[in-house]
Amino acid sequence: MRLTPYYASLIMPGAVNDPVLLQCVPTGEMIDNVGEEIPPVAADHSPARLIDQFYPRVATIKVTNMCGMYCTHCLRIAHIGKKDRIYSKKAYQEALDYIRSNPGIRDVLITGGDAFVLPNDLLRWILQELDQIEHVRLKRMGSRIPVTTPQRIDSELLDILEKSNDQKPLRVVTQINTAQEITFVSRETFRQISKRVSAVLNQAVLLRGINDTRTKMWKLCETIQEACVRPYYVFNCSYRNPQFSHLRVPVAVGQDIIESMYGNVSGDAIPRSIATAGGKIPLHRSNVQGRAGNDLVLKKPWSGEEVKYPDASEKDHSSGDFSFKRYIKCSR
Ligand code: SF4
Repeated sequence: MRLTPYYASLIMPGAVNDPVLLQCVPTGEMIDNVGEEIPPVAADHSPARLIDQFYPRVATIKVTNMCGMYCTHCLRIAHIGKKDRIYSKKAYQEALDYIRSNPGIRDVLITGGDAFVLPNDLLRWILQELDQIEHVRLKRMGSRIPVTTPQRIDSELLDILEKSNDQKPLRVVTQINTAQEITFVSRETFRQISKRVSAVLNQAVLLRGINDTRTKMWKLCETIQEACVRPYYVFNCSYRNPQFSHLRVPVAVGQDIIESMYGNVSGDAIPRSIATAGGKIPLHRSNVQGRAGNDLVLKKPWSGEEVKYPDASEKDHSSGDFSFKRYIKCSR
C-alpha cells in the first residue's frame, strides 16, 4: 500500500466504500482471494531490457516500477512496489538502442510504474534521445501523478514536455476513475499540462462501486473533459488477478453505461470500452460473439480470432456487500 497525503485528503471521511478509499487501501478480499495470477492471453513480449512490445509499431519503455500511489486494481500488482527501482543510464541506453535499431517502431510509450516518478534530468534526456530517432514519430508518457501527487508537476517538467512536443507530438496518458479525483489542484495541473503537449488522454478502469453506474461515468467523463483531459479508454477490470476480482464489473453493465452516453454526452467525452485479452478488444456488441458458461467469446476485430474472456458475476456485482462494508460488518 502506498498513497500520498494529498491523495489521502480526497477520501470522504465517514463514507464506508468511498471511491478513492477503495482504490488505495487494500481490503480483506485481497487476502481472501489471493491466488495465482492467470497468464496473459498473448505471451508477454520483452525483446530487450525495459522494453515491452505487443504491437509491431509501438514500443513501451518501463522506466521505473514506482508510482505515486499503488492502486488496489493494478494489473501490474505483481511487479509494482516490491522493491522500488529507477534503473541505470546503461539500462535506458539499451532500451533506446533497441528502438533505434527497429525502424518499424513509430510510437513510443514511456511508462512504468509511473513515468513522472523519474527526475526531470532523466526524463529530458530520454525524450531528447527519442526525438533524435528519425522513425520515432510520436511519444506518449503514462502517469497518474497529476491525480495522486499534482505538486510534482513543476515548471521545469512542463518546459521539458513542451520542448519535446515541439520536436514530435507528445501525449500524456493518465488514469482518473472517479470525478472525486478531480480537485482544484489537479484540474489546474491538467490544464497546465494540456497547454504544453498534443493531448492529455484518460484510460479509466471500470470498477465496482467507483464508476459502475451511468451517473458516475457521465460525471467522470464530463468533469475530466472540463479539466482538458479527453476520455479515451474504459477498460473492463482484468480477470487475470483474483486479488481484485471483487472490483470487477460485468461487461454488459459497461456496455449499457457507454451506450447511454451517446446522444447525452459530447462525442469527445465518450470513451471506448475495451477488454484486454491478447490485445485491446473493443467491447462493441458486434465483437461479443456469445457466452460459454461464465466466459464471453470475444472477436479480435483485426484478426477475426475468437478468445474466451471470463466475465464478472452479475449476482456478485449487484450485491453492495463488499470491501469496507463487508469487513466492517464482519468485525462487529
Ligand atoms: S498508477 Fe498504474 S502502474 Fe501504478 S499502481 Fe496504479 S495502476 Fe498500477
